[in-house]
Amino acid sequence: MMGQFDKNALPVAIIGGGPVGLAAAAHLIKKGEKFIVLEAGESVGSSILEWGHVQMFSPWQYNIDQAAKELLENAGWTSPDEEALPTGRELVEKYLLPLSNLPEIKEQIMLQAKVVRVAKKAHDKLKTGKRDTVPFQLYVEANGDTTVIEAKAVIDSSGTWTNPNPMLSNGIWTNAERQLHNEIHYGIPNVVQLENRYQNKTTLVIGSGHSAINALLGLATLQQKYSDTKIYWVLRKKQIHEVYGGQENDGLAARGELGIRIQQLVESGRINILTPFHINGVYPTNDKITVVGELNGEEFTIGDIDEMVVSTGFRPDTSFLNEVRINLDSTVESIDTLAPLIDPNTLLG
Ligand SMILES: Cc1cc2nc3c(=O)[nH]c(=O)nc-3n(C[C@H](O)[C@H](O)[C@H](O)COP(=O)(O)OP(=O)(O)OC[C@H]3O[C@@H](n4cnc5c(N)ncnc54)[C@H](O)[C@@H]3O)c2cc1C
Repeated sequence: MMGQFDKNALPVAIIGGGPVGLAAAAHLIKKGEKFIVLEAGESVGSSILEWGHVQMFSPWQYNIDQAAKELLENAGWTSPDEEALPTGRELVEKYLLPLSNLPEIKEQIMLQAKVVRVAKKAHDKLKTGKRDTVPFQLYVEANGDTTVIEAKAVIDSSGTWTNPNPMLSNGIWTNAERQLHNEIHYGIPNVVQLENRYQNKTTLVIGSGHSAINALLGLATLQQKYSDTKIYWVLRKKQIHEVYGGQENDGLAARGELGIRIQQLVESGRINILTPFHINGVYPTNDKITVVGELNGEEFTIGDIDEMVVSTGFRPDTSFLNEVRINLDSTVESIDTLAPLIDPNTLLG
């Protein structure tokens, strides 16, 4: 016989100490619930710190959770200028770190604690039994050991940053792409800090979102200093102007500004644009990289590439949730209620 599960004795387990995980912690404090935050990185906001050099396009007022703000203000914290735009690093240093240092949160955070599996006690996925009444079990890698932590509920706020999409347009990871991990940066490289890596090199940037645009603007700045720096931009869009966005009419001025700056760069002719381009393969060739695909429906090869920046988006890593029953939208892999709000097919037509 399984012992009676005392719901109130166990905490809610929050996976990830990013803005969503810490906001969840603040809300649980307001509700008087016990919780524990399990964060894989050395610091809260560790995914954001990887793009800490990039300026956000939403001002502070949209980046601070209300429950978190109340807790912080009660402890004497002053909110940054609500209209100002933080960098990723500032978001962590001026908001997430002070929040995580509040005594009621600090004592409940485990850093360098990576959740690798989630299960229901004594109930594999197939077994219904008493699964609603038994605790969750989280397998947590910390200090070289795997510990099992029990929780009454689990909030997965592990984000998507650690799980980038590959470059192939069919979404498949190939061995060749994996082998090229030293030459490929997923996300937005800090080109200023990595001058040696990109100066006078040929770099191919893939993607049409703000990450790709930020990477291109960084590389273009480097190109002004090192004139042999060559930039290719590969996108799947039918027309380049589709990436310019609302510009002056954008609801977020900083996002509109990115559209204006990328249009200026495109019109300067300093980058080689290949669109619509669908990548079918990537191969290492004599210390360089070759990309093959279809440009406007015709086979096309780009050779002699030194470096690649792949900004084709990210998706949640749900592998550690395989053993629990979850319902995810089959397209965007979010919970069902969120899906129509973020599905690019519905949003962009
Ligand atoms: C360049 C860039 C600019 C952006 N600008 C804006 C903007 O201007 N406005 C805006 O609203 N949004 C912006 N975003 C998006 C915003 O950063 C994300 O929506 C936000 O960070 C999501 O928060 P999160 O807490 O869900 O995930 P994350 O910030 O990704 O945090 C997840 C945390 O979970 C941890 N983790 C992951 N897996 C595990 C595991 N298995 N076990 C334990 N811990 C784990 C990670 O280490 C990380 O600390 C931007 C994103 C990027 C990349």
